[in-house]
Amino acid sequence: MKIAIASGKGGTGKTTVAVNLALALEDVQLFDCDVEEPNCHLFLGFDLEKVEDVNIPTPVIDKSKCDLCGKCSEFCRFNAIAVLPKDIMVFPALCHGCGGCTMVCPEGAISEEDRSIGVIDKNKGGDGDSGGFEFYRGLLDIGEPMASPVISALKEHIDVDRTAILDAPPGTACPVITSVGDVDYCILVTESTPFGLHDLLLAVDVVRKLEIPFGVIINRHGIGDEKVEEYCNSHGIPILMKIPYDRKIARLYSEGIPFVGRMPEWKNRFIRLFDTIRQEHEGVRQ
Ligand code: SF4
Ligand code: SF4
Repeated sequence: MKIAIASGKGGTGKTTVAVNLALALEDVQLFDCDVEEPNCHLFLGFDLEKVEDVNIPTPVIDKSKCDLCGKCSEFCRFNAIAVLPKDIMVFPALCHGCGGCTMVCPEGAISEEDRSIGVIDKNKGGDGDSGGFEFYRGLLDIGEPMASPVISALKEHIDVDRTAILDAPPGTACPVITSVGDVDYCILVTESTPFGLHDLLLAVDVVRKLEIPFGVIINRHGIGDEKVEEYCNSHGIPILMKIPYDRKIARLYSEGIPFVGRMPEWKNRFIRLFDTIRQEHEGVRQ
C-alpha cells in the first residue's frame, strides 16, 4: 500500500508526519520525494549511500550530417534545440529526454548521451540493519530544473508487497503529481490558519482530480482559527488526526527527534491512523 503525505505549501509539518508515521509502522519503506530539498534524513540519523545516478538522454548533434532543416527544433516543445541560419545549438538543461528530436531527424544527425541530473540514496545496510525500515531519498542536482525524472526513478524502488510512505514535495506542481499520482491514499497536512486553508483547497483540488482517496491532518492544532475544520466537516473530508501545538513536540522537532520515539501514545495514534486508512483502502478494493 502506498500512502503519500502532501501539502499545498511548505512548512506545514508534512515531513514530520511522514517520518513519524513511517517509524510507527513495521516493515515499511519511506521515500523522500521532495528531491529539491529533501530533509527526512535529518530526523532519521541514518548514514546514506548512493544507489544510482539518475540520467536523462540528451541529444548530441553530428554537425557534419545536419543540414539545418529545423525539424528537431520544431518538434521540441521545450525549446531545447535552436536552429540558426548557420548553426544548431542544444540547451541540455531544457531537454526533457523525450527522444523525439532523434526520431524526427531525417539525416540521422542526432544521437543521445546520458546526462546525470541527480542521485538516489538509501540508508546504509537497508532493512537489515534498520529493523525493517528502508529509507530512500532522491536528490536533484543543484541548478537542474526537472525534479520529476528523479522522483520517478526513486519510486522504482517501491516494493509493492510492503507499505510505502512517500513524503511528497510541497505545492501542487508537476513534481507533486509525479509523487502522488499512483498512490492508494493521500494524507494532506495543513495548519488551522487562513494560509493553511487556502493551500489545503489547492491540494484538495489536485487529489480530487487524480481521484485519490484522502484525508487531512491538522498540525499545530490550537493556533489560528476553526476554518479548516469547518471546511473539512462541511465537505465530508475526514480529519484523520490533530497534532496539537505542543511544547514537547516542538522541542523534539527542533532537536531533529521524531516524537513517536519519545511519546509512545503518539506511536499508537499513528498506528491507529494507518489501520483506519488500510481498512478504508481494503473496503474500496472489495
Ligand atoms: S529529447 Fe525531447 S526534450 Fe530533449 S531536445 Fe529532443 S525533443 Fe527536446
Ligand atoms: S532535424 Fe536533424 S538535420 Fe534537421 S536541423 Fe535537426 S539535427 Fe539537423
